[in-house]
Amino acid sequence: MRLILLAALLGGAALGLYLPDIDHTFPFLFHRSIITHSLLLPLLCFLAVYRAQEHWKAATAGLCLGVAVHLCFDLFPALWIGFALINAPLLGQMSGAFSLHMLVGSIVGCLYLTLRLLTTADELAVAVSVSLVCFLIAAQSERVFWPALLILLLTWFVATCLPNPLVQGHHLVQRLRRFIATPEWWWRRRRSRRALSDE
Ligand SMILES: [Zn+2]
Repeated sequence: MRLILLAALLGGAALGLYLPDIDHTFPFLFHRSIITHSLLLPLLCFLAVYRAQEHWKAATAGLCLGVAVHLCFDLFPALWIGFALINAPLLGQMSGAFSLHMLVGSIVGCLYLTLRLLTTADELAVAVSVSLVCFLIAAQSERVFWPALLILLLTWFVATCLPNPLVQGHHLVQRLRRFIATPEWWWRRRRSRRALSDE
């Protein structure tokens, strides 16, 4: 990955990590507004840069990552009451079940948008690493760690199972299952490959 793209990705991730909580700064928005704590802003940015230059796409991929990491922590409030709930304009506070589903769906959506903005497997590896670094930074000021990390890893997996040109998550699982069930399968495949290359 080129340095300028990495810088754009990191800049976008730093912004995305704090973007949802800008609802604090607007008097017309309540905390955990559906406008900032959902897929809405990342999706608008995605649509805006879809045909733009590479560095804009990398910055938006970073922003989506950052928002996803932020929402992973928002998924674990002490209680699903008050400001822990998603707030929709005109409708007010939504239920705990709605808030939970909304947050999980938004995390998967953000990670999927990231996938769609990347063009190579190397970039994906960098993006996953950046999401983990963002996670570790955000975890410094959060109460939960392992449940939020589990959600981040699971939602990354779910995002890779959705149609994308880079990686097919379900194929990886199938291979892993086959390997666990029959380890000799892997050796057989390796041996037949070596035999083919010797011919
Ligand atoms: Zn938040």
